[in-house]
Amino acid sequence: MKLVLLGAPGAGKGTQAKKLIEKFGIPQISTGDLLRAAVAAGTELGKEAKTYMDKGELVPDSVVLGMVQERIKQDDCKEGYILDGFPRNTVQAEALDKMLAELGMSLDAALSVEVPTEDLMKRLTGRRTCAGCNQMYNIHFQAPAEEGKCDKCSGELFQRDDDKEETITKRLEVYQEQTAPLIDYYREKGILKSVTGTGDIDEIFQNVLQTLGVG
Ligand code: AMP
Repeated sequence: MKLVLLGAPGAGKGTQAKKLIEKFGIPQISTGDLLRAAVAAGTELGKEAKTYMDKGELVPDSVVLGMVQERIKQDDCKEGYILDGFPRNTVQAEALDKMLAELGMSLDAALSVEVPTEDLMKRLTGRRTCAGCNQMYNIHFQAPAEEGKCDKCSGELFQRDDDKEETITKRLEVYQEQTAPLIDYYREKGILKSVTGTGDIDEIFQNVLQTLGVG
């Protein structure tokens, strides 16, 4: 299965991607995770990317496209992958189509996870991630048993730098302006599927499977 996950920041793409990985054993390619890893490693690319990420803006297309191209060619992507947070604009979507055509691949579906805008702010400001195992929590809806500590591995929970309120507002604006048009892009290609991203995580996942025709 070769899948693009679309949806605003905070729609739960990453959560659903992780469940799809568990079920199908294919990798998730999250450009946000790849960029955060470069930032953490202190590489030149990471330093450049951080200046955009901290402002809630998109990192230049050339940087992201290079990263995806490298990743998608690796052996574990032969049976499929889930692109999470990529493409983010039409230039990236067109470049992805070209990249895949050159590799003799094509997308099976673009799945849009839809959540009302008023819910997104609360989801993003409440989001916490475990430094040890990447497990996600939300202090409003899905708090850990002990504040600041991961239920699974006792790791420390942290808030992403770009999950602060000012940056979130900018990220949501960037989504509306640059990423939301991709819904029409994939609809016109006939591969768009949509699912409601509110409610119980496992129920959403069942809907995802049904919508993709693999449930
Ligand atoms: P995410 O974890 O997907 O919300 O991404 C966090 C941040 O990384 C975004 O706000 C952007 O600054 C950057 N980023 C992630 N994916 C992309 C992409 N495909 N194109 C440009 N910037 C990206």
